[in-house]
Amino acid sequence: MRIHPSGLTRGCQTTHRNGMGVSVSCPRCGGPVRPPDLMHTDWRCDSDGVVLPLHVPVHIGPEIVEAVRARMDGSAAPLWSPWPLPPGWTLTGVGWVGDDRQGVRGSVVACSGPAPLQGGPADLLLIAEEPGIGLGTRFAGIPGSDPGPFLDSGLGGTPHAKVRASGWPASLWTVKSAEDRCAYVGEAKGCWLYVVAWPAAAGYLLAEELSLVDLVDTLPPQLVYGAPSPYLHGAV
Ligand SMILES: [Zn+2]
Repeated sequence: MRIHPSGLTRGCQTTHRNGMGVSVSCPRCGGPVRPPDLMHTDWRCDSDGVVLPLHVPVHIGPEIVEAVRARMDGSAAPLWSPWPLPPGWTLTGVGWVGDDRQGVRGSVVACSGPAPLQGGPADLLLIAEEPGIGLGTRFAGIPGSDPGPFLDSGLGGTPHAKVRASGWPASLWTVKSAEDRCAYVGEAKGCWLYVVAWPAAAGYLLAEELSLVDLVDTLPPQLVYGAPSPYLHGAV
């Protein structure tokens, strides 16, 4: 049984839509966001200005993923999950970035399981986003919304890891992330693809080519769900 860090709802509002509790927050800082009103057509964060909000269902399970898939249907953003999951791993959260006006422009999937090599709990986030959203950089622990300045080498250099995304090879490069984690970035289906792992050693999961499925296209019925990820609920 994992003990999750406290303060899970830092700055988040929780709303209920279609019977699904969803926390809404700023993708760039995790803080609260103000919905559109008579004077403003956009969502706003006091620190980051106009943002598209991050929506994270409070719970996780097949019916939650089905609801998020329905929300994302027709959007350009994929919803990447490792599939098959590494042994002992479970899916522990999903989220999307967008609003009713602009649709879904980004997504995140959380997985948790035993860390490779040393064991102990590990967490993995897969973020897909259009440029400028800033969710991937935040989870990688770097400022701004552009990973370019934080790449160890340019995107043209030798890749540091490879994944298969919907069957297509995708190259990933190391991001100079915060020290408690390990982060990679690349491009797949026309969006940035970030893979962020805690602790840093859990990045060894990428030593072997990980296979990713876009859950918007395919929801494997054998997918196993675990306790909600702390990392999607304000722990970072
Ligand atoms: Zn913010």
